[in-house]
Amino acid sequence: CGIMGYLGDRDAVSVLMKGLKTLEYRGYDSVGVAFLNDGSLKVCKKAGRIAVLEEELSSRKYRAGIGIGHTRWATHGAPTDANAHPHYDCTGKFAVVHNGIIENFHELQEQLKERGHRFNSDTDTEVIAHLVEEKYCGDLSAALRLALEEVRGSYAVVLISEHHPDLLVAARRNNPLIVGIGDGEYFLASDIPALLPYTRNVYFLDQGEMAELTPDGVRILDGAGNPVSKEVFHVGWDA
Ligand code: GLU
Repeated sequence: CGIMGYLGDRDAVSVLMKGLKTLEYRGYDSVGVAFLNDGSLKVCKKAGRIAVLEEELSSRKYRAGIGIGHTRWATHGAPTDANAHPHYDCTGKFAVVHNGIIENFHELQEQLKERGHRFNSDTDTEVIAHLVEEKYCGDLSAALRLALEEVRGSYAVVLISEHHPDLLVAARRNNPLIVGIGDGEYFLASDIPALLPYTRNVYFLDQGEMAELTPDGVRILDGAGNPVSKEVFHVGWDA
């Protein structure tokens, strides 16, 4: 299971696919990406090997500067196309990737269904996308923070939205997530080797922290949404 996120001038889909291949060693049964193509959110995902998705993507001419990618190690729901990440809400405006386990997903799912949400998958993860959509009032990271306040369990999660074409929001608790700081481009990954082709400057997100990545830079927030100042770590070794 692995996560990759990208914001910058390169072809986001290629960066995501290359990163996911580097994270392959973590094990996976499905793979997927979400990105903004001409301002609209596209999700492409498949059970099976990375090559299967790559083949499908190669026939399309997507051009995106922002996106998220995921290799899944299924914990809730069989390894199928529908259960592969990214997962999205009913409006199709918010997409998330997640490593970890949402322990109270069943009860959250029941409550969301009562409020009219329809689910596309059997995963624990999908509740996050629906909760974000409910909490959203114009501030994407506030929506993720409020959504995660309802969640018990472990996560590294990254969110993109059609409402914010220049913003990636990430959060972590008990699963790793690292921010890569490039020159006008920014990355998220589960592990350092996926970042090394692009940068050696990273932030390690601590327990409960969130990150907002925009073309202007990276903001780290604590669990209450307050900005945190953090030292850049320079990776001195080779993968
Ligand atoms: N619990 C989630 C799922 O089964 C995420 C699994 C993972 O970490 O890859 O879809």
